[in-house]
This record gives sequence, C-alpha cells and structure tokens, in this order.
Amino acid sequence: MNKWVKISLSVLLVILIIFIISITILKIFSSKTKEEEKDKSAYNLTSVNVMKELDLYEEINNHEYSKTVEVLLESNNFKKEYLNYYYDIEYKNITNFSTIINRLLDKNYNSEEINYITTNISDNINIILNMDYINILAYKDITNFDISKIERYLSYQEENQNYDLATIVTYVNIGLDKEGYSEYTTYTTEEALNDLTILVNKYHKLPDDYEPNDLVALSYNSGYTYTLRREAATAYEELVSAALLDNVIIYPFSAYRSYNTQNKLYNNYVARDGVKAADTYSARPGFSEHQLGLAIDVRSNTLLDNLTEKDYEWMLSNSYEYGFIVRYPKGCQHITQFMEEPWHLRYLGVELATKVHNSGLTYDEYYDLYMK
Ligand SMILES: [Zn+2]
Repeated sequence: MNKWVKISLSVLLVILIIFIISITILKIFSSKTKEEEKDKSAYNLTSVNVMKELDLYEEINNHEYSKTVEVLLESNNFKKEYLNYYYDIEYKNITNFSTIINRLLDKNYNSEEINYITTNISDNINIILNMDYINILAYKDITNFDISKIERYLSYQEENQNYDLATIVTYVNIGLDKEGYSEYTTYTTEEALNDLTILVNKYHKLPDDYEPNDLVALSYNSGYTYTLRREAATAYEELVSAALLDNVIIYPFSAYRSYNTQNKLYNNYVARDGVKAADTYSARPGFSEHQLGLAIDVRSNTLLDNLTEKDYEWMLSNSYEYGFIVRYPKGCQHITQFMEEPWHLRYLGVELATKVHNSGLTYDEYYDLYMK
C-alpha cells in the first residue's frame, strides 16, 4: 500500500475513534444532566426527603416555592390536609411558626387571616390561640383596635348590637364597658403640669394634691376671683372679646377648683340628691377638669348658671378658634358620662381644639383615636 494512503487511513481511523468517544461522552453527560434535573428542587434536602416519603414531590414542586411549606416539612409538623393553605401563608420569622400556623388552621382561620395575625399581632398571638375563632379581619381598618381588649369588645358587642365595630372598639377603649370610677389611671403631677391636653374623666384621675403652678386671675370681678392657668386665662379673655363683637355676652361662674373645693361641692350634691344622681352632673374630687385649671363654666348675661341657646350655638361654632371646646355637648352623655353641660368649656389650645371641633367627636373619643 502506498505510504500516503496508509497515513490517510490512520488519520481517518483516529478521527473516527475521537468522534465515537466524543459522542459517547456527550451522551453520558447529557443523560447525567437529565438525572440531575429530576432532582433539582427549590427545596432543601430534608424537606425533599419528607415530601418524597409523603408522595408529594411532584405536587409540591409543580407549585411555586413556598418557604412556609419548607419550614413545615422540615419541622415535622407538616399536615397534608393543610397544604393548600400553607402555599398562601407568608413565612414569618417567629418562634414556633409551624406550630402556630397549624393551631390557627385547626381553629379554622384561613390563609389571609393567618397572614394578618402573624403580621399585625405577632406579639399577642397567644390571645388568639387561647380563644375560639373570631372574625379578626373585621378589625383590620380600625386603627385603635387593641387585641388585648378583644374579650371586652366581644362582650360589649353582645350587649350593644346596634353599635358598629369601630364604635365598640372606641367605647371600650374609653372604658365605657365598665362603671365609671371602678378602674382608672392616675396622672403624675409632672404629666398634669406639662401637658395641657390631658384627658380627665371618670377613667383618668389627677393626683389629690395636684395644683397648677401658673394660675392667674381673670379680669372679670364680681367680688369673687376666678382663676385659670396662664395660657387658658389669656385665651379666655380673647374669647370673651370676640363673643362680645357678636353680641354674645358671657361671664364666668366657675373656673379653677382645688381638690378640696371639688370634694365639698360633690359631697353637698350627694347629700342633696344621692350618689347616683350627683355622679351624672358633678365629678368626684380628682376627676374634675376644673382641678386642671383649664376648664371654665360660663353663663349668659341673663342667666345665673347657664347659657342661652343662642350663646351655646355661638360657643359650639366659635370657641375652638380661641382654643376651647364645649366638653359635654348635648346628646353625648352616653360617652362623656356626664349630662349635657353647654356652659362647660375646656381649654386645649387653638390647634387641638380646632381638630377636635372638626372631628365632631367628644374629647373622650378623640383622645382615644388620635392622642394615644
Ligand atoms: Zn364645669
């Protein structure tokens, strides 16, 4: 054979061998990749093993990856019947997440409700876990909702089915589900001195020895000196002048009252009318806005201790511009816990008084909704 033919055949043979080897390697390699792909799950090894045991490998991997499913599988708390709920539950980094999720599902909460609970009330999930199912999403848009009061909301709602849920929440937060004076918080002297906006009612008390440190006398003189805290006194004089321009002539008939004065006053009323009646129109000592030095009772020119309808209307429409609100308006006795007192003005400062006026709420409600 020709030398060149031999060389050519050899080269061809080598090329052929290389070709065959390459094909074989490629085949092996590609089949390996396919095998690997079969096992390429987004889930970690532990959860893959558990899902294989449960014969759920295909089903779970055909679904979008869920951290919640993975955590449930890993923790050995996975319940097959809850799988479709797990997919829609957002994973939250909270202690005992998987146990909590199952307990909530056991109580018939759905995924949306569970997401709300673990997002918004994660610090108080025990409260939810210790009670029967409640329609938790009904409270979703109620900004002053307080989960720690849930039992009180539910029982108050039973007794007051005519109120909507937002009203139930506000009234319970105020304390109206409990008898006035039965449970109350007491301010410190510092709080009372430094904050002209504090709420004083049958659920918020002043210290017995609290006295404002900046009382000044009002210009009106009837042989008796009426005093208010300096800022309120200045505002009051402006209010009187502005009212006068509209032919509304008002005089004070009570302003700052000490704890002792209030004590005597209240006890006189009790002696005359009994506790139950007295409590509807007179505050017990320590619970009166008059002790704040920020409240004043005004009367009309023609009346001894009341306002005419016209003067009352003027106060309702204008007093906020000088920093005062009518604290016990008509028709609000069920909230303020006092009968209407058209004459009783409370100083809050122009900015806050304007907001309260515009809200149309009593100060008790406004305070709960916006001041806490
Ligand atoms: Zn008063």
